[in-house]
Amino acid sequence: MLEQIDIKSLTKEQLKKEITDMGEKAFRANQIYDWIHKSFVSSFDEMTNIKKEFREKCKERFFLTNLEPIQVQTSKLDGTKKFLFQLADGNLVESVWMKYKHGNSVCISSQVGCRMGCKFCASTLDGLERNLSPSEMLDQIYKITLLTGERVSNVVVMGTGEPMDNYDNLLTFIRMLTDENGLNISQRNVTVSTCGIVPKMKELAEEKLQITLALSLHATTDEKRKKLMPIANRYSIKELMEACEYYFSKTGRRITFEYSMVAGINDTSQDARELIDLAKPLGAHINLIPVNPISERDFKQPDISFVEAFKNKLEKNRINVTIRREMGRDIDGACGQLRRRHKKEKEGTQC
Ligand code: SAH
Repeated sequence: MLEQIDIKSLTKEQLKKEITDMGEKAFRANQIYDWIHKSFVSSFDEMTNIKKEFREKCKERFFLTNLEPIQVQTSKLDGTKKFLFQLADGNLVESVWMKYKHGNSVCISSQVGCRMGCKFCASTLDGLERNLSPSEMLDQIYKITLLTGERVSNVVVMGTGEPMDNYDNLLTFIRMLTDENGLNISQRNVTVSTCGIVPKMKELAEEKLQITLALSLHATTDEKRKKLMPIANRYSIKELMEACEYYFSKTGRRITFEYSMVAGINDTSQDARELIDLAKPLGAHINLIPVNPISERDFKQPDISFVEAFKNKLEKNRINVTIRREMGRDIDGACGQLRRRHKKEKEGTQC
């Protein structure tokens, strides 16, 4: 028997080819694509305008991914919801739903675990398990839309995983997410965050998408960055800035720098000065994130007065800067912690 195909990861064109190869008319592919990407069905039997006989054929040829919500936490402070989903193979991923004035935003995971090893991040502590398929990335948004009953207008790929380490699936996912035959989310409302894999940043630039690229910078010198992020041993800040410039020149989209502030490590006025020098030539937007402490590491948030002083210095130099609002502060710690805690509980060990 042929290996079954993940139907939700097929673009509309690919689906059309599969369906016509099976001897059906091309318009069936349109109907099926709508059921999957507009009605978010989780079984072929829900596709009521498709003949039973052909549905049975589809069940043999394809499989349909589905996520099982294992845990949902809702913040009493701001309505943020954190979802722990189970994948078909039992692996777990986290996604976050945030309500803003301008619409609902979902933060998705791109991998099960991560192999980048950033020192302050909970998602990487157990390494990489596997990549997520385009369907499993879409599923996080589809399931949340069904569970909340509200439309998602913004997507940020900032959950567990390094999206550039799962590049081909990421690209298919973005194309399908922003396709008019699917959720039709504007490319401008999609942000992809990377720890800085230079060749992939350049490859993405060539795609000339209108998405926002966010670079997790976190330090202004190579020495300091190496202490926080192993990827800094591979690519220097100079190479990163060149890749950012290239991205801007190809897409016209300004880069965002994420800067997680850690007490005593990267929070001085000297750091702010150096950050200004890096951001200015690119017109980069800076997102300051007071580090979210994880129990396995001894990183602390700077005093809020330090964060404010840092922000003011940037603003005085006409750098566009925001302090990331801590959404859902009451429901969990850093991203990756929910999955980790659940895993530990199942294994019967203390977290
Ligand atoms: N791998 C990608 C995307 C996932 S992490 C990347 O590195 O960008 C999303 C953002 O959250 C990154 O900027 C990451 O460095 C940051 N982050 C991870 N753990 C954090 C923590 N405990 N406190 C503050 N920021 C954290």
